[in-house]
Amino acid sequence: MDFDKSKKIYEEAVKYIPGGVNSPVRAFKSVGADPVFVKSGLGSKIEDEDGNTYIDYICSWGPLILGHSNEKLLEDIEGILKSGISFGLPTKIEVDMAKHIVDSYNAVEMVRMVNSGTEATMSAIRVARGYTGRDKIIKFEGCYHGHNDCLLVKSGSGAITYGVPTSSGVPADIVKNTIVCRYNDLEDVKKAFEKFGDDIAAIIIEPIAGNMGLVPAKKEFLEGLRSVTKENGSILIFDEVITGFRVSYGGASEVYGIEPDMACFGKIIGGGFPVGAYGGKREIMEMVSPTGPVYQAGTLSGNPLAMHVGYKNLKTLSENKDIYSELEKKAIMLEEGIKKNIEELNIDATIVRFKSMLTLFFGKGPFENFDDVQSCDTEVYSKYFNEMLSRGIMLPPAQFECMFLSTALTDEDIEYTIKANYEALKAIYN
Ligand code: PMP
Repeated sequence: MDFDKSKKIYEEAVKYIPGGVNSPVRAFKSVGADPVFVKSGLGSKIEDEDGNTYIDYICSWGPLILGHSNEKLLEDIEGILKSGISFGLPTKIEVDMAKHIVDSYNAVEMVRMVNSGTEATMSAIRVARGYTGRDKIIKFEGCYHGHNDCLLVKSGSGAITYGVPTSSGVPADIVKNTIVCRYNDLEDVKKAFEKFGDDIAAIIIEPIAGNMGLVPAKKEFLEGLRSVTKENGSILIFDEVITGFRVSYGGASEVYGIEPDMACFGKIIGGGFPVGAYGGKREIMEMVSPTGPVYQAGTLSGNPLAMHVGYKNLKTLSENKDIYSELEKKAIMLEEGIKKNIEELNIDATIVRFKSMLTLFFGKGPFENFDDVQSCDTEVYSKYFNEMLSRGIMLPPAQFECMFLSTALTDEDIEYTIKANYEALKAIYN
């Protein structure tokens, strides 16, 4: 495989963009490679600037459930463009989109569109604080909710100590109200409530964590969070930026049968466009300006082009709900193939799957929280990523991320991936 053109673009890119990329994971740093610059995508595959093609398991980090350049989503796109790109005034499609989200997600009675997942979680927390009149929030170690200052926090020495910033530039004073607890550990959360109960505005959680590799929450844990927040008058926020409309039409909330008070959505509802949204119970959402005192705004929020494509994406998914079982079938095929390879080669690796999301952990597991996943061998993952890349498979360029499947994947694509997985593992462990 030749990467000459990607390399040249990268040399230019680093002169003008920090690290040459607009989001750190794209730099391929944690797998010791140079980034691949993508030229196009169609169906299950992407092509880079050098003409190499890859079966894509990133799918824009989740949104491309229907694959790349899906014809249905692109229908009429020229007509939409010709009628104007942005007005900064309300348009009907925003109402259609909001109604659609409200109709599909039980806990959401009102919704506000924003431009990213980061904005969605930032706004939801502000609203939860405004509604409860409290300052503290609980997040979980290993969960990522975008790069809001108050959420860029790792655990202190004990679970109920105050967090410390994960990023420089975040004042310690800002994260002093962020409490970090252990994922899947209800006792830890209860201790936090015993200590700070009256001050806790909200718990925010990825109900199926995808940002420490794939670590689904246990049902009893989520049920416990639902009870403890109810008992203490705190808001339960599900961050469904990667799970909403992906794991099922009604998101993780539907799969687990648990209703949060608020939910955040992101890239998936834009079908690949820069979109986010947050919503919840009417009484909470009526706190948002101009109805209520919590300020939140956005010049490009509800952008018509993004709304049209996002709406078409959601409508296609809602009208063809067997898409979800089809996706899961593909994911099971991949999971079983990889499991068989692991057993045959007798290596310490574990494939974890939830619906159409998967992570191959280079460790024995079980993987229930951030500490567990830290035991994985990231150096082996780097080798694995590069071995797979050279065989035309685009995997997440980091161990602690998820693979996302699209309906465009064919059985041949999956069979090829399983074969490549076998060869890659063999090359690493031999
Ligand atoms: N929440 C979750 C669960 C995410 O995975 C992400 C990003 N991957 C975000 C929030 C932030 O979304 P964005 O990158 O669109 O700001």
